[in-house]
Amino acid sequence: MRFASLGSGSRGNALIVEAGTTRIMLDCGFSFAETCARLGRLGLEPHHIDAVVVTHEHDDHMCGAAPFVIQMKIPVYMTPGTRAATGRKFKRAHCVCFDPHAPFQIRDLLIHPFPVPHDAREPAQCVFDDGAVRLGVLTDVGTPTPHIRNMLSGCAALVLECNYDEELLRTGPYPPSLKARIGSRYGHLQNGDSARLLASLDVSRLQHIVAAHLSETNNTPQLARSALADALRAHADEIHVATQSEGMPWFELR
Ligand SMILES: [Zn+2]
Ligand SMILES: [Zn+2]
Repeated sequence: MRFASLGSGSRGNALIVEAGTTRIMLDCGFSFAETCARLGRLGLEPHHIDAVVVTHEHDDHMCGAAPFVIQMKIPVYMTPGTRAATGRKFKRAHCVCFDPHAPFQIRDLLIHPFPVPHDAREPAQCVFDDGAVRLGVLTDVGTPTPHIRNMLSGCAALVLECNYDEELLRTGPYPPSLKARIGSRYGHLQNGDSARLLASLDVSRLQHIVAAHLSETNNTPQLARSALADALRAHADEIHVATQSEGMPWFELR
C-alpha cells in the first residue's frame, strides 16, 4: 500500500490511497482542474482513480467530489447522513451509502469506517486495509473517543489531525464564536489532544505518521511536529506534515 496527499487544510483536502491496482481518493475538496493538476504532481491522471470516499459534507472535503465522480463516471461513497446533507449535488452521480460501523470493500482495499464527533450530519473517518497493513486517517474530529482509539491502534501509518495550537487559537484573530466552534467537542483537534491520542495508541507497527489539516492561522508545522514527536519520543524530523498547498508525496508501507 502507498498513500499521498493532494493538499490538507480548511481550503481543501484529498488523500490518495493505492493498493495493487486500486486507487481511492478520500475526500475531494478542490475544483476539477485543481484536482487534476495535483494528481499530476503524483504521476497520476484522473482516470487512475477508481472511487471517491467522502468523510462529511463540509466544503473543504466535498466541494470537488460531485464534478469529479460525474465527469469520471466513478462511484462515490458516503454515509446516509452525509448524502442527505448534500441535497441534490450527487443526483447525477453513482452514490453508494455505507454504514459507518460496517467495513466495505472497494476492489483491493477493505475500508473500516468509524463515526467521529464533528459538527456535520453523519461524519466518518476511515482505516484502509490491504490485508497486510493498515492506514488510519483521522481529521475533523472534536474529541477522540474510545472507539477511535481502537480503530487507530496497530496501524502501519497514521494521518492525524493537528488543527490548532491552543495558545495561538486563544490569542489569534478569529472571532469568539469561531474560536468556540473550533475548540468545541464537535470541532477540531488541537496539537495536545492529537499527541495524547497518539500516546494512547498501539504504535508498535507504525512506519509513518503525518500531521494533517493544520490551520494556517492557528498552528505551525513546527508546533504540530514537536507535539507528535514528544508523544512518540521521536525526533521532530520523523513527523511528516501534509500541507495545504503541496500536500505530501507518496509514502510506501511494507
Ligand atoms: Zn475539514
Ligand atoms: Zn469538517
